[in-house]
Amino acid sequence: MLIDTHCHLDAAEFDADRVAVFDAARAAGVGGLLVPAVDAANFEKVAALASRLPECRYALGIHPMYVAAALESDLDLLHDCLAEGGAVAVGEIGLDGFIPDGDLPRQTAFFIAQLRLAREFDLPVVLHVRRAQDQILKCLRQVGVRGGIAHAFNGSWQQAEAFIKLGFKLGFGGAMTYTGSRRIRELAAGLPLSSIVLETDAPDIPPAWCAGQRNDPANLARFAQELAVLRGIDVDAVIAATGDNAVEAVPGLADVPGFRPVGPAP
Ligand code: ZN
Repeated sequence: MLIDTHCHLDAAEFDADRVAVFDAARAAGVGGLLVPAVDAANFEKVAALASRLPECRYALGIHPMYVAAALESDLDLLHDCLAEGGAVAVGEIGLDGFIPDGDLPRQTAFFIAQLRLAREFDLPVVLHVRRAQDQILKCLRQVGVRGGIAHAFNGSWQQAEAFIKLGFKLGFGGAMTYTGSRRIRELAAGLPLSSIVLETDAPDIPPAWCAGQRNDPANLARFAQELAVLRGIDVDAVIAATGDNAVEAVPGLADVPGFRPVGPAP
């Protein structure tokens, strides 16, 4: 099944036409969407969205780009919201070494605290990893979570293998549609299919065919085709395997309507 494992459908960019965007994704064959929160202010919004849309599930977390403005008490709120149930993962969390004056020690403190929550509630995590692959791997080894998804993966082969070994799937989306993204395309073509999930990161990371515009979750269908071409396999095999992989990484996606596991990836 086509599952968009990373879609910010709650973002303001979709305020004017969210339902139409969702319907277009559904019409394109997208059968599941995971919407990660980015800070405490949108916890309620992502939960409400998921309660209205049967194909939609949500994750809760504080994104590294929002850590500067976050309060320590937001971690308590996160704890309480996770305890209530409903969230299928902790995310979007991680480290971003690209933000100017990004205060990595504070980012790391929030990241570690949220990994501990993921472990406490036995939830997978949705990772934002930018220029901080090895630091994130170190934190994961330190805390020990059940795995999850490294979203918009952009590391080395060695780092990819390290994430896989720790129980993670790697998210591929818009970046692999650019012929100039050589390393990402090589990874998408060569990593075991069992380690790959598809994502749009909508409204961000627009693909080559709508560069500079808003990215919509309906593009996921074309990402599957792109990945099939890169790997030289049938698109149905890509859709089946990446859907199964998404559910393996985030078991809470298994109950979206119509999901049937297809079996082990080739
Ligand atoms: Zn994101």
